Amino acid sequence: MLEYMLIRSVDQPIIDNSKGKLRWIVLDEAHTYLGSNAAEVSLLLRRVMQAFEVDASNVHFVATSATIGGQEAVSHLRKYLADLAGIPLERVDVIGGRRVTPPLEMKGVTDKALPTASELEALTDYESRRHRLMAVPAIRSLRNELTLKPMPLRAIRERLGAGVSNHEALEILDVCSESTPKDWKEQPLLPLRGHFFMRTQPGVWACWNEQCCGRTDQLLSKAWPFGAVFFQHRERCLHCDSLVLEVVLCRDCGEVYLSAEENDKQKLSSIPWKQSTIIDDFDVEIEDDVDEEDEKIESRSTAKLRQLVCSRPANEYMDCESGYDRNTGEILGGVNEGAVRIRLARRHDPDHRIRCVTCGEPDSQAYQQFRSVRVGAPFYLGVAIPTLLSHAPGKEKATAALPYEGRQLITFTDSRQGTARFAARMEFEAERNFVRSFVYHKLWSLSRRDKPVDIDKLRDEVLKLRPVAASIGLESLLQEKEEALNRAETSANAPKGSIGWNELIEALSKTDPVAYFLPESTRARYSQALSDSKKISEMLLLREFVRRPRTGNSLETLGLASIHFNKLETANPPEDWRRKGQNQESWYLFLKVCVDYFLRTNYCVRIADDTRRWMGLRFQTRYVQSPDSERGGAVTRTWPTLRTNRRGDQRLFTFLRLVLNLKPQASDDQLLLERLMRDAWKAIYSKILVEEQRGY
Ligand SMILES: [Zn+2]
Ligand SMILES: [Zn+2]
Ligand SMILES: [Zn+2]
Repeated sequence: MLEYMLIRSVDQPIIDNSKGKLRWIVLDEAHTYLGSNAAEVSLLLRRVMQAFEVDASNVHFVATSATIGGQEAVSHLRKYLADLAGIPLERVDVIGGRRVTPPLEMKGVTDKALPTASELEALTDYESRRHRLMAVPAIRSLRNELTLKPMPLRAIRERLGAGVSNHEALEILDVCSESTPKDWKEQPLLPLRGHFFMRTQPGVWACWNEQCCGRTDQLLSKAWPFGAVFFQHRERCLHCDSLVLEVVLCRDCGEVYLSAEENDKQKLSSIPWKQSTIIDDFDVEIEDDVDEEDEKIESRSTAKLRQLVCSRPANEYMDCESGYDRNTGEILGGVNEGAVRIRLARRHDPDHRIRCVTCGEPDSQAYQQFRSVRVGAPFYLGVAIPTLLSHAPGKEKATAALPYEGRQLITFTDSRQGTARFAARMEFEAERNFVRSFVYHKLWSLSRRDKPVDIDKLRDEVLKLRPVAASIGLESLLQEKEEALNRAETSANAPKGSIGWNELIEALSKTDPVAYFLPESTRARYSQALSDSKKISEMLLLREFVRRPRTGNSLETLGLASIHFNKLETANPPEDWRRKGQNQESWYLFLKVCVDYFLRTNYCVRIADDTRRWMGLRFQTRYVQSPDSERGGAVTRTWPTLRTNRRGDQRLFTFLRLVLNLKPQASDDQLLLERLMRDAWKAIYSKILVEEQRGY
């Protein structure tokens, strides 16, 4: 940039106006100017001084660096800077930094032996714990030593005394570095810095040979039909030289497969491994929120087909067993000794896609249904950081409105984009956690238990009726009472609270973070951000509840809250439903399943565009159309009928078949299914849908 300034005409006025005024030149990260880079910088500095018409003898050079070695390095550094700046050696001063151990106030402290864990635990306040630890001479000398240089754990253990285990030593370090209470003026007894190294997991690979001699421990189980497992990519098994394939999982049910490529001669090989695919693993973290339909169709050569090697006994979703040469992957005819015998997941018509052999979900065109086993930095950081932060001291003057009591995190990374994404994600997670805890506590505060006296009375009646009911013809009464008792007992153990959606928005909007912190902090950064706390509150709640995630966590999937639709609760079930032995309550539950797994899954939810923008989830709101509607398009979903073949839509039919015990082949049952789905549409349509121009 400096180089650029010297030649750019727009910058000329700056230089003209500053002639003779250049007094200071600061070189940051001075240790990085080595070799030709140093020569270039040194020449550049001379040109700069020339342009500003100053002499090196009148300019102060400041070089800053966090990386300066010992005494020898200091003289080296002086020479280096003198050369770099073109000034005599005498004009260079090296100012180093050194850690100072603050003295301890030892008045009234007498030496004691190392405390036991239980002794420390019994000391409830920080001050007494600190005094107890200070009283140990070994801890005091450790404190001095660690200020001067790092020490391995082994040395620390020895310093603490004979017989101290690694674990105990770590525990002592842990309590010694405990952060001080907010009003405490001194530093922690032993302010430690930890360097933790974690290896990310780019995938899991396995030898496909069941006879592999590398199967040990858990791999010896019958449930694992393959060979040795590897945590780094390799082409051949270390133990038996067979092919090694990557392990993939079904996104919906977690079923395990090995993934392979098949050429036109039915020869299987491993899919070429691209290291590059793991760099951007931030996407992997949020994929559950990505729309099911948002799939890019990859152009792939059709000569090779992706195949999945199944790990289970045969079922109707698999091809017949075939034998392959374990080293070359070539298919072998007839009975062959030593062949690898496997089954591939079958490809299904009409579109020739693989379906998961346990949950039946079809693969997408972009091969998104089956994913590799990867755990990247975002995952580790996401888990580690909240824990680290919660142990750090809060900001002194923080108000309750600041998230995490104003604790802050600084990250350094080679990937600027990654950092930006991670920061956004942290913010997102913090908001989400706050909303979750708010909703949970709100509901808890509203919860009521049924009066226990009712239960006792019911239980009494049931106990009296039970032995005599059959003889006096009161079986149905007994059954009724038993059910009531059962219900009462369950609800007593699980008290429930409920609140209307609008009331919940109102209540959340009145909390400090939503009323003060969020409007101010977001407005400072984005001029168009939502600033009305009611709107923010609605956005936060929609973020949590717009959809029931398939594999991620939410208040709903954790079982902490559920959404109910009062208007649907009063819907009368159709005759067909009652004839199958079902009642109004179960009809409502089925309608709720339709709303949760069709409408909400497809984002057929009314959300203002303005609100959607700030939710931080990638989705498109859609409209639902009646089952007979001919209107299609990317933003509409037609109510599922047996004819529809959209990914995921068959779920509701499968569900009904299981609940009502219907057979997919029986035409009567098929008609019944179709009628019930239409009845469900009518109920939902008349009770909760709102008509708009493009649908409901
Ligand atoms: Zn092997
Ligand atoms: Zn082997
Ligand atoms: Zn599955």
